[in-house]
Amino acid sequence: MIEFKNVVKKYDNNITATNNISVKIKPGEFVYVVGPSGAGKSTFIKMMYREEAPTSGSIIVNEYALENIKSREIPFLRRELGIVFQDFKLLPRLTVFENIAYALQVIEKTPEEVEQRVSRVLDLVGLSAKRDNFPAELSGGEQQRVAIARAIANEPSILIADEPTGNLDPETAEGIMEILEQVNKQGTTVVMATHNSFIVNEYKHRVLEINGGKIIRDEEEGVYSNED
Ligand code: ADP
Ligand code: ADP
Repeated sequence: MIEFKNVVKKYDNNITATNNISVKIKPGEFVYVVGPSGAGKSTFIKMMYREEAPTSGSIIVNEYALENIKSREIPFLRRELGIVFQDFKLLPRLTVFENIAYALQVIEKTPEEVEQRVSRVLDLVGLSAKRDNFPAELSGGEQQRVAIARAIANEPSILIADEPTGNLDPETAEGIMEILEQVNKQGTTVVMATHNSFIVNEYKHRVLEINGGKIIRDEEEGVYSNED
């Protein structure tokens, strides 16, 4: 569960990136966050995993009240979240297997559990054959599939994706969407910021449109834009 109440985020330069955002996202929902560049989408999303702290207002993510979360609790919050970025953020010197295992080993899983979990998520994203390759040996779409496998390996209740198809061609983007759809069907909440109008219009879900730091549209089964 994610709940924002009257959330304002002002950066040090006095820019107000989110201006009184209130919204509730229920477990198992798939939500797109759309809007022009500079609208406040990334800030909205970064506050969910405490990359940025709100200036005022309250944010609840699962059992955590983020406006007064303690630093030592932040790693526990993040273990309940999977995060995927536009630029993949894989570790270049680690293999596909190691990139995913790394995220698990840091939370003290046994080698058997690690092997089992990595195999399962690699199978889910269709990359079992590339487990011993390095990221540079993979296409962009394959690298993003590894990043998704890594993000879901801890079985997070919420998957947060900031422009996950931003660097991918349309066909590859559809492959990524098929995986996100599958993850969502298994019960994971998905929150995805995107500029990809084709994807939003093709794979229908709730749409939150942000502009000038405010939510200006919130529609079930929405389209990318109601203009034109
Ligand atoms: P979007 O993701 O929709 O492009 P952002 O949340 O990145 O929007 O940015 C919202 C506004 O906040 C923009 O005006 C941006 O320049 C500003 N901003 C974003 N991050 C920072 C930061 N770390 N410091 C100062 N201003 C920022
Ligand atoms: P995105 O739109 O995905 O947030 P950007 O290129 O806008 O990507 O931002 C890249 C990084 O720079 C982010 O960490 C963001 O917080 C920061 N940033 C964005 N705008 C500003 C700004 N006006 N001042 C300082 N940092 C910023």
